[in-house]
Amino acid sequence: MNEEISIKDIVAATGFRFNKGLGQNFLTDKNLLAAIASDSGLTNEETAVEVGTGAGTLTRALAEVARKVISFEVDSSLALVLELSLRGVENAEVVFRDVLKMSDEQFGEIVDGEFRLVANLPYYITTPLVMRFLESDLPVKSLTVMVQKEVADRLVAEAGSADYSAVTLAVQMAGSARITRFVSRKMFYPAPNVDSAVVHIEVERGKLEGEDVPLIRKLVRSAFAMRRKTLANNLSVAFGISKAEAGEVISEAGFDPLIRGERLTLEDFKTLSHIFSKRGIMA
Ligand code: SAM
Repeated sequence: MNEEISIKDIVAATGFRFNKGLGQNFLTDKNLLAAIASDSGLTNEETAVEVGTGAGTLTRALAEVARKVISFEVDSSLALVLELSLRGVENAEVVFRDVLKMSDEQFGEIVDGEFRLVANLPYYITTPLVMRFLESDLPVKSLTVMVQKEVADRLVAEAGSADYSAVTLAVQMAGSARITRFVSRKMFYPAPNVDSAVVHIEVERGKLEGEDVPLIRKLVRSAFAMRRKTLANNLSVAFGISKAEAGEVISEAGFDPLIRGERLTLEDFKTLSHIFSKRGIMA
């Protein structure tokens, strides 16, 4: 297994059946796998947490650069495939659990201390997974995620653009993101219907120190709740205040009372939160 990763052979030999519903599209290209491991910034003193082990190809690439890898996989029918594909890899452990169904406490019992998260994600769990780690108190240093290209655009979008959304701001509240590479659908086995991109999010602990983070989160969520409505409208619904009061707060923050939430930067949301706090309007 050190030379060519012949996942197709292993899959055939074990009789493993792909579960489309779990987003099982595996990567086999060694250069690409090494590049993703490198994008994560992992060093041999750090722990990698992988979500979605699949056939273990990325797990193996991560094990080459990290001190250890803890990889979570929901589908235990991959056990035999992984026994073969991870043979000889001493610093990787596969845990057959659904990360999204684990509390921070349960996660912390398995992953002790700081870690970098790396995942080639099933697309339907991308946003919940990214949000779960960005908004938790778990000591995650970074997230390097392979996502559908359109989702990557959303994670790194500029304020006011069509891709700018609540998840963009969740990323900005926690750190900073960049697309490290684009990956054609042809690189997966079997090939999915979409192209992908790798996004690296470096977490900056304490970025919002001294700020009312729950209030900013609620402001962000409500600003994007109904995209076609004005910010005043959305805030009035979410905070149970009159539209007139919402308009006053927005003016006091220095914005046009008819502005839409999607035009506000993180700095603008901070300003808004200060005025809400001053007026005693809570999250
Ligand atoms: N990392 C492998 C690779 O790069 O080839 C596999 C990637 S595949 C796109 C995603 C994997 O995530 C699948 O093996 C799937 O069974 C697993 N998975 C899906 N939902 C999961 C969840 N909630 N928790 C853990 N693993 C999950």
